[in-house]
Amino acid sequence: MRKHKIKRWIHCFLCGNQLEVRNSKREKPYLVCDPCGMQVFVRREEGINLLEDLIRNISSGRMSSINHFKDGLGLLNLVNCLEQLQSKREDLKLKVGVFDFSPSSKGINVAIAALDYEISCLENDLKGLVSNS
Ligand SMILES: [Zn+2]
Repeated sequence: MRKHKIKRWIHCFLCGNQLEVRNSKREKPYLVCDPCGMQVFVRREEGINLLEDLIRNISSGRMSSINHFKDGLGLLNLVNCLEQLQSKREDLKLKVGVFDFSPSSKGINVAIAALDYEISCLENDLKGLVSNS
């Protein structure tokens, strides 16, 4: 049974509709916008933490919903990019074994390092967006 049932919400980044932040059976947050037919799932811990920060900032009035609406598209784009980069990195890591020192694994390791860099940049951007209010 749930302890609390405070409604948490953010605006749809397409139509501006107020969306309730719901929790899936696995307690991962997701958003559904009926008019847009859009569903947004936040599955990774980083994204979940950022969403929590965002909701807290909005409900405490530190971030206006208008600002959020303006930034929402950028934020969700960043979250999506981050997810893609992280899964790409995981794919690459699976390709190269821990004790694989072949020349081909060298190239993959360089690619992984590049992805790591991109990911850390995106994470900083996201943190900036969330705390910038
Ligand atoms: Zn919408």
